[in-house]
Amino acid sequence: MISSVNNLVKVATSPFVIVALDYDNINTALEFVNNIDPLDCRLKVGNEMFTKYGFKFIKLLCNLGFDVFLDLKYHDIPCTVARSVTAAAEIGVWMVNVHASGGIQMMEAARKALEIYGDEAPLLVAVTVLTSINEFDLKYLGINDMISSHVKRLALLSKKCGFDGVVCSVNEIKNLKKVCGIEFKVITPGIRFIDSDVNEHKYTMSPSEAVKAGVDYVVIGRPITGVKNQALMLKQINLSITKSRNQINIY
Ligand code: C5P
Repeated sequence: MISSVNNLVKVATSPFVIVALDYDNINTALEFVNNIDPLDCRLKVGNEMFTKYGFKFIKLLCNLGFDVFLDLKYHDIPCTVARSVTAAAEIGVWMVNVHASGGIQMMEAARKALEIYGDEAPLLVAVTVLTSINEFDLKYLGINDMISSHVKRLALLSKKCGFDGVVCSVNEIKNLKKVCGIEFKVITPGIRFIDSDVNEHKYTMSPSEAVKAGVDYVVIGRPITGVKNQALMLKQINLSITKSRNQINIY
């Protein structure tokens, strides 16, 4: 990790890092949020916090100026999913997701439901295969295929349904960018540094490696929320990302 605090920079307007706000109580979550700048990261709220604190909590984060990724991974009949993504759009979230394995009808219904929001619609992305699933699990589900082929199939299906991108493992970034095109967004968890605990992730990359592989947004939880000086850690990560982006001439 970068050691100097002196050359810390603020990331211009479009944060690359989505912090996974995986806390079990609202006070700790707000303590974290109040200590960081919406220009430095977006926030991801998942099932645990949403189940406990609901839409008012999301609204609060939006009102504080944060872009919120509502990570509830909808997977239901088309009509229910359409209504759920509409509810998310009404709260004002920046990104919402469904499981691609919900199928074409479900994904098309979700896409259609957001049409009325035009440019204001949240980004709509699909979870391909959960990173906790292995090839044995796939077999038991009746899918006799390699994980990477199944991920590719689901990503192409999501693209066909008009989705903005997918959530997948870091291992799939390059391949999906190649087959789905650079405009199709790829979002990955599993971001770790050389010295950090990989936890349950099977594949990990540093933020810089993920940027070089072509990722659009990185989801980072414990490597940021688990340290003492979280704001400093976030700034250091942003600095390393800015350097990598400069190196690959994205700007
Ligand atoms: O703490 P960590 O950096 O591992 O956080 C990763 C986040 O990404 C968690 O919120 C987890 O729920 C989420 N995740 C995901 N999809 C996966 C694996 C993890 O959204 N396939």
